[in-house]
Amino acid sequence: MSQQIHPFGPHFGFGLYVHWPYCARICPYCDFNVYAAKDRDPELLLEAICADIRVHRERMPDHGALDSVYFGGGTPSLLTPAQIARILETANAVFGIKPGAEITLEANPNDVMRADLPGLAAAGIDRMSVGVQSLRDSSLAFLGRDHDAEGAKASVHRAMRAFRSVNVDMIYARPGQTPDDWKVELEDLLWLGMPHLSLYELTIKEGTPFGLAVDRGQIVPMPDDDQADLFELTQEILTQAGLPAYEVSNHALSPDHQSRHNLTYWNGGDWIGVGPGAHGRITVGGHRYASEAEKKPEAYMANVQALNTGWSGAQRLDHKEVARELLVMGLRPAAGINIERVESISGAAVPRDKIAAFAEQGWLRLDGTQLSLTPSGRLLADALTAQLAP
Ligand code: SF4
Repeated sequence: MSQQIHPFGPHFGFGLYVHWPYCARICPYCDFNVYAAKDRDPELLLEAICADIRVHRERMPDHGALDSVYFGGGTPSLLTPAQIARILETANAVFGIKPGAEITLEANPNDVMRADLPGLAAAGIDRMSVGVQSLRDSSLAFLGRDHDAEGAKASVHRAMRAFRSVNVDMIYARPGQTPDDWKVELEDLLWLGMPHLSLYELTIKEGTPFGLAVDRGQIVPMPDDDQADLFELTQEILTQAGLPAYEVSNHALSPDHQSRHNLTYWNGGDWIGVGPGAHGRITVGGHRYASEAEKKPEAYMANVQALNTGWSGAQRLDHKEVARELLVMGLRPAAGINIERVESISGAAVPRDKIAAFAEQGWLRLDGTQLSLTPSGRLLADALTAQLAP
């Protein structure tokens, strides 16, 4: 690298991810680490999460203050403002949270309507990510959601009045969805005026209720070509609407509204993962560690209590793994990645002949040492990065 900067680590962003695994009910397509909230005592898990944050500090005494905190799940909007404040106060006391840090809470539309939003804002939340998923009642019923389209719209309006920034999560490429109908649904969505959109194609994973329904022939997933057409249509509509993609699945009105927390993941920054099943990437002594907390809440809490850490499974990644991950993640943002960073870790050149061949196809762009995917290349992101990875 021309500049003597370590190619990964907290200077590329430092975040805290808090996984709250409980949900009021479990959706049939979900393959996240989630558990029904009924009969669970949130206080015990809350205590374990705060203890886990403190233990992380002992392992990484030189890290500065946090750039971002992200409450994901599960359904972290089941937490009260006082419970959120407790986690943030712990993080602030232990690591420090930078002034103006991005602090995001994921929320279901019904929780947004019920929640004490001013209380959440006072606790420190400045960005809300609302799980709208669809503005079609029939699709919401299919997806097993407990809100309707009108409720979803009202929740986005309410969130936008309370927070600096708001993201809306959507799921498309649903079985039987037509381009015309998706276009109208997207236009309805754009009327809401949110400054950030995350749009994911429905992926049906084995073992989920949807996966079993596919096996039984009750659900027919959308064919790949049709999904690709919808992806391109989506890019076209959102670019015209002033919400261009700054990452494969993420669109923002301006850089101020891009997710700083997710950019830390994509740019090779560090993040602590606390809560059951949370993943982290931590740089200590120049080495990159991947942490994964115990998945089951009981095991996580027992681990924190007995071993004084939820981070029992931290594993040191070798150079090749770090370089590969940096390339795969770094090509997701539209800005791409300086491949000298990847090469300085792996000690091997990213093959220029392959880059040239993919550039010729119009899938990649190499500007000096900055490598990025073109809009059509984003469709093939996984396949291209698999070919280029060290
Ligand atoms: S609310 Fe979200 S995290 Fe919970 S089961 Fe449904 S999709 Fe999964």
